Amino acid sequence: MKESLPWKIEITKADNGYIASWYEELLDKADYCQYKQIVFEEDQSEGKPATLMNLLFFLKDYFGEYSDKYDKFEVDISLKHGSKYTCDDKKCEICKEMYHA
Ligand SMILES: [Zn+2]
Repeated sequence: MKESLPWKIEITKADNGYIASWYEELLDKADYCQYKQIVFEEDQSEGKPATLMNLLFFLKDYFGEYSDKYDKFEVDISLKHGSKYTCDDKKCEICKEMYHA
């Protein structure tokens, strides 16, 4: 029986985002593994923070890190405005709750 692969992933910074690559074992072919890659390309409308956020969501998922709303601690991956930023976008997703409160 072969040893199982280490549970790891490699993140490479590219000009326009990140590349995540890893090897995945094939369940039906015990001696083979498949090289997988996902590109997190920067979306011009959403910008760099959104790209990083997508990568972080992916990593959380990849390592199976889930939490429940009743857990003592929960990792919160979300976008927020800079502390000195003034937002005047009435349709802003981040400020949505403030405007509708
Ligand atoms: Zn806002």
